[in-house]
Amino acid sequence: MQKLAAGNWKMNGTAAALDEVRALLAAHPAPACEMLLCPPATLIARLADLAAGSALRIGGQDCHAAPSGAHTGDIAAAMLADAGASHVILGHSERRADHDETDDQVAAKTRAAWATGLVAVVCVGETEAERDAGTTLAVVGRQLAGSVPDGATAANCVIAYEPVWAIGTGRTPTLPEIAEVHAHLRATLTARFGAEAGGMRLLYGGSVKPANAADIFALPDVDGALVGGASLKAADFGAIVAAL
Ligand code: PEP
Repeated sequence: MQKLAAGNWKMNGTAAALDEVRALLAAHPAPACEMLLCPPATLIARLADLAAGSALRIGGQDCHAAPSGAHTGDIAAAMLADAGASHVILGHSERRADHDETDDQVAAKTRAAWATGLVAVVCVGETEAERDAGTTLAVVGRQLAGSVPDGATAANCVIAYEPVWAIGTGRTPTLPEIAEVHAHLRATLTARFGAEAGGMRLLYGGSVKPANAADIFALPDVDGALVGGASLKAADFGAIVAAL
């Protein structure tokens, strides 16, 4: 399967950030992997214009479960698609923490994304307390079961394993720990979706940098990365793209 390097800009970036995208496209006109950048909603249309005709895809960072309506400040999946997005990150741990998003809500948003033709990048991951308590596999299994609706396919669904304690901290699980979780995710998805699960891309996210990317990508069942901080600079994200 083609691997995926996905960048999550979070609440970072104004028009000046377009120069980084221009630099990324110039340096990686034909990458071996699929590239995805998920900027703030204000930049989706401009990044989509820049990326037109290139190997770079553009995504949102969240969408509402409803198609439209009285939801001030929210964005519908169809609006993301209309702006030029092909993907949307859903259930990121910062959304789960800052907005109390539940697995049920993430599943509803995922169905809304699919109804609009967007690929959902569904995030799961344990807290540090959960890892210390030895419940990591149970936690990610429960999140997977609750957040991914029936109907998931290799084409419409990407799973991102992001340990909460590794995001933005410079810390990562050990390579065997990452491999253990990814094997568990693949087995859990296969039990539910059969052979289709073999083609679903499983991304690792949490302090992926140029220095650790190659080792992480060499692990079985790691089909790419969801990258936060290191996706903001073309040189760093480009180095991660080149490692895939
Ligand atoms: C993220 O925001 O999804 C993420 C993985 O962040 P970072 O790479 O900065 O840890």
